[in-house]
Amino acid sequence: MQAALRQHLGGVRWALRVSEAALRPRCVGPASPPAPRCWSCGRPLPSAEGLPHFCPGCRALQPPGPRPDLFRLMDCDRSFRLDVQRLQRRFRSLQRALHPDRFGQRPPKEQHYSEQHSSLVNKAYQTLLNPLSRGLYLLELNGVEPAQETDCDADSEFLMEIMEINEKLAESENEEIFEETETLIKVKQEELTKEVTAAFERDDLQEAKKLLAKMKYFANLEDKLKNKKMPS
Ligand SMILES: [Zn+2]
Repeated sequence: MQAALRQHLGGVRWALRVSEAALRPRCVGPASPPAPRCWSCGRPLPSAEGLPHFCPGCRALQPPGPRPDLFRLMDCDRSFRLDVQRLQRRFRSLQRALHPDRFGQRPPKEQHYSEQHSSLVNKAYQTLLNPLSRGLYLLELNGVEPAQETDCDADSEFLMEIMEINEKLAESENEEIFEETETLIKVKQEELTKEVTAAFERDDLQEAKKLLAKMKYFANLEDKLKNKKMPS
C-alpha cells in the first residue's frame, strides 16, 4: 500500500524537488511575497504553483492554489491536441493520491483540502477531455472572450442546417431518426474538432472561436436528443 502511494505521489514529489531547488537561499528583493507556510507545522513551503502538494516536513496535504492551470495540474501540454491516455493516467493517479478516503484519519482541515483537490481534479479532467470545453478553456487562457450566440449569424448556411436538425427532432418520436441524428451530430463534431485543432495549431484564435461556437450548437442539439431519448 505504502509503495503504491509512493508511486502515485511520484509526480507530486517531483514538483516539490524542483521547487525546493528554486527555494535555496539566494538574494531576494524586499518585494517578494513571504513563502507560504504549512498550515499544520508552520514550515515554509516550496511553491508548487497550484499542484497538489504535501508539506516536506509533516507530510500534511496543503490547500489548492487559487487559480491553478488545469493543463499543468493534469501534466498535459497546453495545446488543443491532447494525449488522452496521458490525461487519463494522470487523472487516475491524482484521484487515488487525493481521494478523501485516504484522509479519513487526518484532521478535518486536511480532509476538506482533499475534497477540494479531488473536485478540482475532476473538473480539470472533464474540462480537458471534452474538446469543446478544452477549446473554450484554451481561449480563456489566451485572453480571448468566448463567442456570443450571434457570432454565427453571418453563417446562414450553418444556421439553416442547425434549424433543420432541430425541426426534425421536434417533430419526431422515431427511434431510427434519433439514431440517424446522433450519428450526424457525431460526424459533425469530429469534423469540427479537426478544424479547431488546425486553427489552434496555426494560432488562429479567432477562427478557433468561431468553430467552437458551432460546436456549441451541436452540443446543444446533443442535449436535446438525450432528453428526447430519456425524458426526465
Ligand atoms: Zn508541515
